[in-house]
Amino acid sequence: MSTSHVGGPQLPQERRIVTAIPGPESQALHARKTASVASGVGTTLPVYVTAAGGGVVVDVDGNSLIDFGSGIAVTTVGNSAPRVAAAVAEQVAAFTHTCFMITPYDGYVRVAEALNRLTPGDFEKKSVLFNSGAEAVENAVKIARQFTKRQAVVVVDHAYHGRTNLTMAMTAKSMPYKSGFGPFAGEVYRASASYPFRDGETDGVAAAKRTIDEIEKQVGADNLAAFVIEPILGEGGFVVPAPGFLPTLVEWCNANGVVFVADEVQSGFARTGAMFAMEHEGVAPDLITTAKGIAGGLPLSAVTGRAEIMDAPHVGGLGGTYGGNPIACAAALAVIETIEADGLVERAQAIERTMVERLTAIQAKDPRIGDIRGRGAMLAVELVTEGTTPDPDLTKAVATAAHQQGLIVLTCGTYGNVLRFLPPLSMPDHLLAEGLDILESVFASV
Ligand SMILES: *Cc1c(COP(=O)(O)O)cnc(C)c1O
Repeated sequence: MSTSHVGGPQLPQERRIVTAIPGPESQALHARKTASVASGVGTTLPVYVTAAGGGVVVDVDGNSLIDFGSGIAVTTVGNSAPRVAAAVAEQVAAFTHTCFMITPYDGYVRVAEALNRLTPGDFEKKSVLFNSGAEAVENAVKIARQFTKRQAVVVVDHAYHGRTNLTMAMTAKSMPYKSGFGPFAGEVYRASASYPFRDGETDGVAAAKRTIDEIEKQVGADNLAAFVIEPILGEGGFVVPAPGFLPTLVEWCNANGVVFVADEVQSGFARTGAMFAMEHEGVAPDLITTAKGIAGGLPLSAVTGRAEIMDAPHVGGLGGTYGGNPIACAAALAVIETIEADGLVERAQAIERTMVERLTAIQAKDPRIGDIRGRGAMLAVELVTEGTTPDPDLTKAVATAAHQQGLIVLTCGTYGNVLRFLPPLSMPDHLLAEGLDILESVFASV
């Protein structure tokens, strides 16, 4: 049994496997989970956690696993990162809630100021805070509809925007996100994404023209309030669009009075080797949605963008009981301070160099790795039998084998054939290398 219940970077930074994965204590807890928690909530790897920090997750059986998942790109600065833990403790002792809409507090204002400063775009910005990524996306659509006095929303193939009614409509994949949960919100239309490995189009301007043509024919620019897109498709498979795709779409949106919304819920906050992934494209979105990496695991999300768009809704039209909770805001300010003070944007770039080099070497020996892609510490490999034929069984087998050796990896992709890597930026080099060694041996044996 583990005696360590203290997380953060003070945890020994080592892989330590002392039982089967999952071990007996985890299995006992999992039996209780199965009996007590609605079965709709799945579990990727049922090891029950007692502590986490740096680059490891420690379970109830005393195993210490290398974390290539960050709780789905959330603990970007690390679990229980020192500044976050201290800021949360201080805030929780001061006050836990007043509701910003009733009696406000400066933490919310400071987070808004930081988001306005850090997000791409050299124009006056404003922000509003919520709890979840889906809630941010819903509110970006509300704001865009008020501003444009139009209703239609266009999203792309392979998109993921959440699990609420409107965001289910915006999400592409039926199983498991949508199947049986309709009817879905109206006025949501889908157009082509840019997916160079599958659509073969490496000219992003040409890919954007195809998307724009679909929108003009099937929706009409005059009806379109917002075009919403992840700058790197997340759940859809870590797909980086062909160069020129996003800038061409931004230009078309600007010319046609359409609000361009970048959903950076997964790609934001240093994850991709830039503070926000849109920076890689050299253009600014009108609105940007953020969540996941924003607050080190405390529930917080935001919509940030052009002040004149953000101010379109009437007073009282935006908000929520918990949006911008003071503890989550304290955590977010500590996350931002950590990213800036510890050079985590550069750290993500260094992780990319290390991982891409190793993954490329693995691919050279293994043609089942069809594609290596992503940016920063948001990387993935797409697995195929031949050509571009998806191999979800291999993907599952590789993930399972990695889990058994104490490496947490996640899968994604419309075809379930993408292994994704999202290490916390607090991951020390020796654990990053050990995780890659495990991947190499797993590919050699599976
Ligand atoms: C995770 C995710 C969401 C939904 O965020 P929740 O906090 O789970 O509601 C929306 N958009 C993108 C791109 C995401 O990755």
